[in-house]
Amino acid sequence: MHPLPELLDAFGAGVYLLFGAIHLDLWLRRRERRGHLWLACAAGFALAVDLTGLALRRSEGQVAPWLAAANLLAVAGATICLFELVAWLGSRAAHRGARLLEAGAAVLALVAGLWEPRLLGAALLACGALLVWAMVRAFRATLAGDPESGIVAGALVFLTACLLLDVAMELRWISARPGLPVLGFTVLFLASARSLNDRAGREQQELEGLRRELERRVEERTLALTEASERLAEASRTDELTGLPNRRGFLEASEGALARARRSRLPLSLAIADVDHFKRVNDTWGHAAGDAVLRGVAATIRSSLRAQDLVARWGGEEFILLLPDTPAAGALHVAGSIRVAVAARGVEHGGLEIRVRISFGVAEHRPGDELDATLARADAALYRAKQEGRDRVVGAEAELAPLPSAPAGS
Ligand code: GH3
Ligand code: MG
Ligand code: MG
Repeated sequence: MHPLPELLDAFGAGVYLLFGAIHLDLWLRRRERRGHLWLACAAGFALAVDLTGLALRRSEGQVAPWLAAANLLAVAGATICLFELVAWLGSRAAHRGARLLEAGAAVLALVAGLWEPRLLGAALLACGALLVWAMVRAFRATLAGDPESGIVAGALVFLTACLLLDVAMELRWISARPGLPVLGFTVLFLASARSLNDRAGREQQELEGLRRELERRVEERTLALTEASERLAEASRTDELTGLPNRRGFLEASEGALARARRSRLPLSLAIADVDHFKRVNDTWGHAAGDAVLRGVAATIRSSLRAQDLVARWGGEEFILLLPDTPAAGALHVAGSIRVAVAARGVEHGGLEIRVRISFGVAEHRPGDELDATLARADAALYRAKQEGRDRVVGAEAELAPLPSAPAGS
């Protein structure tokens, strides 16, 4: 017996064993990569074809029937696994016709191997048809834009050519070189391994891209949510009509000013302004006119104050002022000039100029007092201002006389 075919069979067995072990291990690590399982199984069957083929050649005439059956079944198994590998690479399940052909090939191989040698041709034909089908599928997947199927399609053509030459050699039609199936299978397994590897890389890249996109979206959403919650927080501190801080905004902002005053031991004063007879504005010119007046008064107060002073809408037609670094006398002066400015600056509404007056209650914050206590003293002073005839500024300290009032009339 010529030693070359045996050497080639041994080489093939080594290659198949290596491929089978590597891809079985890869599949065990990542079960969702079923392509590795099909490749491992195809390599296992190829090994079986190889070994049984070797045993058949050695048996020289006294062929054990089970050996022939095992050889044929291994051929069918390898073909089926290759078909499944191609289907998996093309990302499409093998359809029902293919499943029938797979089952047919397996059954024919079994029957031909064990009981009916006359069916051998049919079994081999079914395997050949499956191989051609796999080739067509691989080419179609390549044309449909699947980059990994191309290399397998090429390798399948090569394998088919090797097998056909081998058969022709077996039938003594030609005198080709031995070992062609081993070469064909080795090339195909190498190509399949390369395809599986490329696919894993591509999937990894796609996954990475998706992860980045997801991260970008989460960041975008988080930013939008943060902005929305900041806007909401700002809105909850702002009076919609005048744009000034509302009571909540004032109380929050006043904490810092009070703490600074405590630390610096500088005086700090509070003033409450209330529009006189404001109800009449609403009653005479309507609610919209009243709103316009409130906006006008708010703007006049804001423009009369320093940047560090706080002004807020305390509620209804009342405004509150917090004046850091300002003793009661200074606060009375500031309130007096605002009172004059409001009285002098009419508010335009519906072609009319509406003039209103305001009264102030002023109190200097006493160190150690709560803000509420100072507020209550300013409120009491405002009450006195109203009692005494409105359109005036009254200080909470008894010794401070009210400033002279401006002439009335609106
Ligand atoms: P006084 O001189 O004693 O302060 O009298 P007044 O009429 O100003 O006070 P009063 O408390 O009797 O009336 C306040 C009015 O302010 C009643 C209320 O309808 C009106 N008002 C409160 N908030 C608003 C607002 O946002 N827009 C308008 N247009 N009116 C308001
Ligand atoms: Mg009021
Ligand atoms: Mg009022």
